[in-house]
Amino acid sequence: MIQNRIKIPVNFSLPRRIQRLSELSFNMWWVWNQDAQQLFRLIDKPLWDKLRHNPIAFLNQIERVRLTSMTNDLYFLDRYDAVIKKFDQYLEAKNTWFEETYPHLKDEKIAYFSFEFGLHESLPVYAGGLGILAGDHLKTASDLGLPLVGVGFIYKNGYFMQSITEDGWQETRNFYLNFSEAPIIPLTDNKGNALTISIDLPGRVVFARIWQVNIGRVFLYLLDSDLEENAQSDRQLTSRLYSNDLEVRISQEILLGMGGVRALRLLGYSPTVWHMNEGHSAFLALERILEMMGNGKTFEEASGIVKKNNVFTTHTPVPAGNDQFPIWLIDKYFSQIWPKLKLSRDEFVNLGNQSQTWGDTFVMPVLALKLSDHRNAVSELHGDVSRKMWNWLWVDRTEDEVPITHITNGIHTSTWIARQMNLLFQKYISPNWLEHVDDPEIWENIEKIPDHELWAVRKHLKRKLTVHCNETARIKWQQGGFHPVQVVASGVLMEPYSLTIGFARRFATYKRANLVFRDYERLMNIVTNERKPVQIIFSGKAHPADEPGKLIIQQIYRAVKDAKMGGRLIFLEDYDMNIARLLVQGVDVWLNTPRRPNEASGTSGMKAALNGVLNFSVLDGWWREGYNGKNGWPIGDDTEYQDINQQDEIDSRELYDTLENDIIPLYYDSRSADNLPNEWIAKIKETIRSNAPKFSTRRMVKEYVNRMYVGAAEMNVDK
Ligand SMILES: *Cc1c(COP(=O)(O)O)cnc(C)c1O
Repeated sequence: MIQNRIKIPVNFSLPRRIQRLSELSFNMWWVWNQDAQQLFRLIDKPLWDKLRHNPIAFLNQIERVRLTSMTNDLYFLDRYDAVIKKFDQYLEAKNTWFEETYPHLKDEKIAYFSFEFGLHESLPVYAGGLGILAGDHLKTASDLGLPLVGVGFIYKNGYFMQSITEDGWQETRNFYLNFSEAPIIPLTDNKGNALTISIDLPGRVVFARIWQVNIGRVFLYLLDSDLEENAQSDRQLTSRLYSNDLEVRISQEILLGMGGVRALRLLGYSPTVWHMNEGHSAFLALERILEMMGNGKTFEEASGIVKKNNVFTTHTPVPAGNDQFPIWLIDKYFSQIWPKLKLSRDEFVNLGNQSQTWGDTFVMPVLALKLSDHRNAVSELHGDVSRKMWNWLWVDRTEDEVPITHITNGIHTSTWIARQMNLLFQKYISPNWLEHVDDPEIWENIEKIPDHELWAVRKHLKRKLTVHCNETARIKWQQGGFHPVQVVASGVLMEPYSLTIGFARRFATYKRANLVFRDYERLMNIVTNERKPVQIIFSGKAHPADEPGKLIIQQIYRAVKDAKMGGRLIFLEDYDMNIARLLVQGVDVWLNTPRRPNEASGTSGMKAALNGVLNFSVLDGWWREGYNGKNGWPIGDDTEYQDINQQDEIDSRELYDTLENDIIPLYYDSRSADNLPNEWIAKIKETIRSNAPKFSTRRMVKEYVNRMYVGAAEMNVDK
C-alpha cells in the first residue's frame, strides 16, 4: 500500500517536452528549490505572483500557447532539464545522512503528528510558529533521508484571512481551499473508493478520508471529515484551525490521535517512533495501548511498552496556554473508552491530571508527558521553565532531575534563504553550502564576501519588500473599498533607504507588539527624525476570540494611521509565509519583545539572521542562545520579574535607549567613503556566521534522531 510514485490526480495536458512540470507541481520539493520556482517565474511571472505561487493553479491557468512557446526556448529547456535531473537524483538518492549514519534503522518508520503544518502559503493549513516548525521538520526529514511520515488535517477553511478596518479593527474573512488546486492526492483502494478510517464518538461514528502530500521523499497524510457519511456538524470537524468550541476541539483531537493511528495502520505502516508535536495528538498513545490490549496485554504492560517509543515535544511555557478539557467533556467522550482500557474513571482522569486537583481539567501535555519516555522543550531556557512547570509530575525528583530535555528549534534553511543571498553564499561560502549548513566551519568563509556585494544584496531585498508593499496597496486600491488611510497604512510612503525594523508574529498579548508604543512621543521622535528616519513594519493575526490581542492591533493601527508618524509605521494585513519571507529577508532589524520567559523559542528571528537581518530582542527563547555580544542587540537580561508592569517599563526604556544610542547611529553614522556602513556589515557577517549553522533544522532534526528517535526506534516494540 505504501507507494512512492503515486499517480497525480490532474491531467494538465502539457506539451510533452515539459510534461514533468505536472509532477513537480505535486511534490512540494519545489518549495525549497529555487531553480524549480524559477521555471514557473520564467514562464509567466505576473501570473505566478497573482496565484500565490501555486504551481497547480498556475499550470491550470497558463495559456497553452505560452507553454508551447517555452518548448522553443533553449535557455528555459536547459533550466528545465537541470531541475528535473536534480529532482530525480534527489528522490532516488541512496547515500542520505540517515542511511549512512543508521543503516540498521532504515526500514523503521517515524510517525510525526501535528495539528498544523506550514509548508507554503499555497497550502494554508497552519496558524503560526508551531505549524512552520512542523513543516520545516518534514522538509528536513526528507533532505536527511529519514523514514518519516507526517499526520495532520486538511483544513478547507484554513485559519482565517485577516483584513483591518479603517479604524484598526481586525476582521476575519473566510478562506476556502480549492482542493483541485492544492498539492493533495486522494488515496483510494484498488476499486477507486476513497480510503477512509472511522472513530467512535458519543452517539455517532465519524469517518475521515486520507489525502497525501508529497514533500520531497516524505509523505504527509491529511485527514478530512467532509464526507457525506458524516453528520453535518462532523463534516466541519476538520474545516478550521483552533476552534474555540471545546467539543469540536476534543473531537478533532480524538480524530487526529486515534484516527491518525488507524490511518497509518490502514496504509500499512508500523512506526517504531511516534512523535507528538505538542499535546494535541496525545490520544494516539491511548489508541496504541488499546491495540496492544487487544493482543492480550494489560494496561500496565501496554502503557509501559508504548511509552518507550513515544516522543513528546512541548511548546507551551504558560500553564494556562496548555491545551486542556473540562472533566465533563472527558466523561462524555471517554466513558466508553476507559472500560476498554480496564481503568476506572478516576484512573483515566488521572492520566491527564494531578490526582489532588482532578475535577479541574484534563491537560493534554500531561497525558503526553505521562505516556512518553522521550520528552523535550524547544530551547535551553524553555527546558528550565518546563522542568519547573512540570516538576509536580515527578514529586520525588528535584527540578533539575525532571526528565524533560531540550532541543532548540531551527529553520529549514533552503525554505527561508533569499535567492540572491543563496547565490552569494554559493559563490563565497561553498557551492553546496546548503548540504553543510550545520557545519560551523564553512561559515568562517563569510569573511570572503566583499562588503559591497553583501550590502548590494541587502539593499536589493529591502527594495523588493518596498515594491511588494506598493503593489499590494495598488491592487487593493484599484479593487475599491479601500480607504486612503488604509493605503498609507500598507506602506506606500515607505522608501528603501531608511533603517527599517520588522515585527511580525501572532498577536498573542505576551508578545507585547505594543511595547514600542509605551512612550509614544519618544517613538515619534525616533521615527520622524529627518536625518535618520526609522520605519517599522508590523504584521500578524490575533486569534478571532482574543479580544485583548485585537485591541493591540487596533492600538498599533491607530499609530500607523497617525499622520504625524509620516507614513513610516506600516501594517501589512493577512500575515502568511509569503509576507514572512519578504519581511525576514527585507528589513534591517528584526524586533521581538516577548514578556520573558513566555517565548518557548521563536523562529522568525532565525530566518532573519540567516538573511543578514540583525536581531534586536528580549533574551528569551532562542535569542538567549543566539546572542553572543556582537551579532545583534539584547533587550533586558535574565532578570525575573514579579510585577509585569515594571518589566514592561524597564524593557521599553532599554528598547528606546538601544535604538537611539546604538542601532540608529551604527546604521547611519559609521559610513565609509563609498557609503557602506562597514560596522553594520561586520555585524551582519557575525550574525550569519554564528546563527546560520546553529539554528538550522538540519542541526535540529539530527539532534531529534540522535537523542530521541534512535533510542525510541531501537526499542522496536511494535514488531
Ligand atoms: C516563522 C513564522 C512564525 C513563527 O514566528 P515566531 O518568531 O515564532 O513568532 C509564525 N508565522 C509565520 C507565517 C512564520 O513564517
